[in-house]
Order: sequence, then C-alpha cells, then structure tokens
Amino acid sequence: MTKFAIGVDLGGTNLKLGAIDEKGTLLEKIEINAETQDGPSEVIKKICANISKLNERWGQTYKLSGIGAGIAGIMKLEEGRVITAPNLPGWEGFPVRSRIEEGIGRTFKLENDGNVAALGEKWMGAGRNSQHLAFMTLGTGIGGGLILDGQIWHGISGMAAELGHITVYPEGNLCNCGNYGCLEAYASATAIVRGARHLIKTKQASLKMKELFVSSKEVEAKDIYRLAKLGDSSSVELFSRMGTSLGIAIAGLIHIFDIDTFVLGGGAIPSWDVFEDSMFLEVETRSFVQRADPRNIYKSQLGSNAGIYGAARLSFL
Ligand SMILES: [Zn+2]
Repeated sequence: MTKFAIGVDLGGTNLKLGAIDEKGTLLEKIEINAETQDGPSEVIKKICANISKLNERWGQTYKLSGIGAGIAGIMKLEEGRVITAPNLPGWEGFPVRSRIEEGIGRTFKLENDGNVAALGEKWMGAGRNSQHLAFMTLGTGIGGGLILDGQIWHGISGMAAELGHITVYPEGNLCNCGNYGCLEAYASATAIVRGARHLIKTKQASLKMKELFVSSKEVEAKDIYRLAKLGDSSSVELFSRMGTSLGIAIAGLIHIFDIDTFVLGGGAIPSWDVFEDSMFLEVETRSFVQRADPRNIYKSQLGSNAGIYGAARLSFL
C-alpha cells in the first residue's frame, strides 16, 4: 500500500494542508484563512478538523505515514512549544505539539515554517539535486531554512537560518527585530514599499512614484514592480538595492557554508527580473568562491506549496 503524509503550513494569514504521497504527488490541498486573531485554540481546532478530513478521504486508499507542520514562529522543538511568533498573536509559550496531538490522537512532527519550506524545495523543488541548500522566502518579512547534508540544520536551540536578520548595512534601516540594516529591511516586499515611502518623504522620489502614492492608498510591492518595468528610476533603484542586499547575504553564506544551491521563494519572487542582475553581480563581486566555482541561485519551484511538501516530508524521513 502506498504511503501518504499530511503536511500543515500555518502562516500569519493562511492555513494550508496537503495530503501528499511518498513519491511527492499532491493528492489534495486545502487552503483557508487561518483567522489567527481568534487565538491558538481556535486555529488548532481548524488544523485538527482538516487533518481528519484529509485522513478520512485518503486513508482508505493509502496508508498514513505521519503528520507534520511548519509554523511561523520560533519554537523550542524538544518541548513542542512556541517561544515567539510575531505573526501569530497569543501563541507565545503555547504548547502547540501536545495540543495538536490531543486533537488528532496521534504523534505529530513540528518544525519552523522556513525549515519545512527549505525541506520541501530539497525534496520536490528547485533543490532536488543538492544536499546543501539555503532557502529564503521574500514576503512580508524574510524567512529562511538551511539544509546541510540533506538534513534541516536547527542550531543549538532551533533558531538557525534566521537569514532575514543577517546585517547587510551596519547603519541601515531599522528592522522589525530592533536591529539596523537587516536583509529583511531591504529585500522583503514590505521593505520595497517602505523604501518608496522614504523616498517620497525625503523628496527624492520620481514623479511617477509620487503619482502612484497619490492615486492609491494601499500601495503594494507589485505596484512598484510595475513602475520598475516601465523604467521608473526610483522603483529601479529600490529593486536594485534589494538585489544588492540579497547578493551581500548570499556571498556571506557561500563563504561560511560552501553550499551550492540557494532557493528564493515568497510573494516578491514575481519581481525576480528587476532584482536578479544586481543580486548576481553582487555575489560575484563579493565572493571569490562564486567567481571560481559559480553556485546556483534559483527561484522556488513549489511556490506557496513548499511548506506543505516539507511538512509532509518530515514523516517520510
Ligand atoms: Zn532584523
């Protein structure tokens, strides 16, 4: 009997679940609003109900190998407890693993969301051919995951691969973490919009950018991307700095880990064509290793499904 696993991916906005067989075929995906404002107990109820739904539907034809989840927060994995989760209000200290295990009546594998996305790309995505990869998700913030020798690298406390908080400009912009000049403050979708607002405030913005902010109340990174595609100087400058920042971080990671594959995912990836040149140039400029032996920097292949793939994969390892 072919095995399948259920992977859960809980972010600040969406809750995704997937039933995936051991060959990596996505049998079914459920995506709903996580409604995290209702607090952890309500979210756990939704997770457990949808796990049961998938198990009832697929557990007849396939044998359930296990269930895993990636959760958007920093966790004490041995205890199965959330330490801090800026995108999940009220989850600090919450014993997420035991509460899910009580709800579903079986054991359950817990991970950080960046780690499972990295594992998903390693299993069925852009990192399939590599044993060593770093994954970054460029969205509201920047999440990360590191796979070394085919395994998730957790560090001593499970906090490894907070790649968004690598300092790229020592005296740069304030980051949500309280530090200045983090990668996240330059290369996330939020940073692009914030950068545009700064140009307007300091009277450095182009006419087109000023017009965009006058005509739209809720400007998003994709609106600024559209301007960059039209050649708008301020927008091009913001995405160029995004690429440069990524290049600085990637060059550093090459020198530390000597890894061959970098995978970038998240909501900002559709703007790849306006930041890739500055990113590749910066990696080459800063890394003699890259010049001697070029490493691969890929777009995510699994997109928003990377998390459910990786979470399911936890049960097949
Ligand atoms: Zn930071």
